[in-house]
Amino acid sequence: MGASILDGKMLAEKVRASVAADVKVWTGKGNRPPKLQVVLIGENPASNAYVNAKSKACEDVGIDTHTHTLPDTVSEKELTEVVSHYNNDDATDGILIQLPVPEHIHPLSIIEAIDHRKDVDGFHPMNVGRMSVGQPCFRPCTPAGIVEMLDHYSITTKGKHAVVVGASNIVGSPMGIILSRENSQGKATTTICHKFTKDLTKHTIDADILIVAVGLPGLITGQMVKEGVVVIDVGITRVADHTTEKGYKLTGDCDFDSVAEKAGWITPVPGGVGPMTVAMLMKNTLLAAKRSIYPE
Ligand code: NAD
Repeated sequence: MGASILDGKMLAEKVRASVAADVKVWTGKGNRPPKLQVVLIGENPASNAYVNAKSKACEDVGIDTHTHTLPDTVSEKELTEVVSHYNNDDATDGILIQLPVPEHIHPLSIIEAIDHRKDVDGFHPMNVGRMSVGQPCFRPCTPAGIVEMLDHYSITTKGKHAVVVGASNIVGSPMGIILSRENSQGKATTTICHKFTKDLTKHTIDADILIVAVGLPGLITGQMVKEGVVVIDVGITRVADHTTEKGYKLTGDCDFDSVAEKAGWITPVPGGVGPMTVAMLMKNTLLAAKRSIYPE
């Protein structure tokens, strides 16, 4: 293996320790602890696992958290009422609706129902729009965590060709916006690829920085990247593995061995982007409690 590892687990611990210290200072001044309200719908094992991880991370840094669980038969109207309740609750700083929501609920409608000042996931159009024009906003946690990781390892994006594979609202698209802006954390020439892209390799082979967020294990192989590329593998897919206790293992979108052979830097899965996403959620929740983005 030629690549050095971008250690998201280690960096996330640092970020969380720094959030914990800031929370202590905040509460030491007589403020109540920040509070994250999670809304979880239905019984999706992966969603349950993510919510547990986020709740545990909150506890560790001194953020209060509560999960409001709803059955997957909940109507959009009922869900909107729940969200509205927390919008109006002064003791709630951040609201997170764990995605995916059941098919009969339109994800964008329910995201728009969140008060953008409490949208610590950074998915509300107000935050996405403000991010697009370089205004203070809550940035989505996964792209924000990736930026933090590049920054920590002194990997500059200025003038580089960044190729993002995957164009979802929560990862690929905001990643492209951040990297392509002409400010300190962007300045890259950015290509966004998705399922309609013809000849994916034509784009990935030219990437200086390759960010993959698709959810297809093994999509990117060593033959598709150039020597020295920085690879950020966002993909997390549960693949059956009976040799493990849980009966599955988590797999990224890259064929790790062949890509790591050529890459300069690479994130592992697990232990790369995932922990950074949770750490950035902690950071956003503290910002929300302090009214740092949207002062009243
Ligand atoms: P999504 O399903 O919303 O979007 C997938 C994107 O991939 C789409 O834009 C689609 O057009 C594109 N795509 C599909 N097939 C493709 C192909 N053959 N070639 C190129 N593009 C293709 O996914 P998402 O919510 O952005 O998540 C993507 C992956 O990242 C999933 O594995 C998810 O579990 C993972 N994820 C990880 C974190 C983390 O913290 N590590 C956070 C969010 C998502």
